[in-house]
Amino acid sequence: MKAIALFSGGLDSILAVKLIQLQDIDVLGVTFETPFFNAGKALAAADKIGLNLRVVDITEDHLVMLRAPRYGYGKNLNPCIDCHAMMLRKAGEFMASWNADFLVTGEVLGQRPMSQTKQSLHVVAKYSGYPDFILRPLSAKLLPVTKPEREGMVDRNRLYDIQGRGRHRQMEAAREFGIGDYSPPAGGCLLTDPMFAKRLKELFSHNDFSIPSIHLLKAGRHFRINDCTKVIVGRNQGDNGLIEQYAQDADCILRAADYPGPTTLLPGGGTEAERHVAASLCVLYSDAPKGEAVRLNCLRQGQTVMIEATSADKTQAAQWII
Ligand code: SF4
Repeated sequence: MKAIALFSGGLDSILAVKLIQLQDIDVLGVTFETPFFNAGKALAAADKIGLNLRVVDITEDHLVMLRAPRYGYGKNLNPCIDCHAMMLRKAGEFMASWNADFLVTGEVLGQRPMSQTKQSLHVVAKYSGYPDFILRPLSAKLLPVTKPEREGMVDRNRLYDIQGRGRHRQMEAAREFGIGDYSPPAGGCLLTDPMFAKRLKELFSHNDFSIPSIHLLKAGRHFRINDCTKVIVGRNQGDNGLIEQYAQDADCILRAADYPGPTTLLPGGGTEAERHVAASLCVLYSDAPKGEAVRLNCLRQGQTVMIEATSADKTQAAQWII
């Protein structure tokens, strides 16, 4: 017998795996990636507990869902019910090709106010298309009997009845299983971050759904200089690196030629006037003396040209910032 476990790498998902493995059932983990969350934590935890883990990129489908989630958003731009259902649907689709009999998640009844009420868990399971196959070992005794329990694949009596936001039972179980080192339960999804959500909403409102544009929201200061054009200015080396990583051939990358300063990106390359605005923002955040005409390298489609600009006005820049 084999189960596919949706594995985030948090303590709840580790315990869910352990409870099923204890019943001599083979468990294969699966974790998902998008620009909003990655597999890092899951990979590290799977390595520690010796779980075979598959990483699946669901960016394209997730983006389609994110634009109009059937069950709406949480506090920020997090469509948790639709997102959970999508992950379970994907895992359900893998059951046949991965020779698995049922699905396992570390969800705990009542742990999250919106997405883990009894009603939400029911909706998620139903919307996934695999309601009878989804076993939540940490709260199983409080939930309807599922196919693996009914058909004797899993002994329901050896599962848990945890509910609520307290972590006491999970920590006790972690001690019992000798799990001493685990990551905190929440965090890691950018859609729950208010600043990222604000930038993403702004991007979507300009009909930009491209994957590089979304990755670029993680870096730098963002300015909307007119309805069609953005400028992104790095704040540090990390930002500069990320901007270079996601810049496209048609984009324009600007750097001051004679002073330390940020990498600045003008997606799409812009018009000559827009390149000068981008250059003036680049100068504003560089070490160049204000008021001086500064030379900048402007790289686009493999060619570098030199342009000159003076610093943008701070008040004007503040009006453009997203
Ligand atoms: S927090 Fe993010 S990853 Fe988690 S269910 Fe919500 S949208 Fe999906």
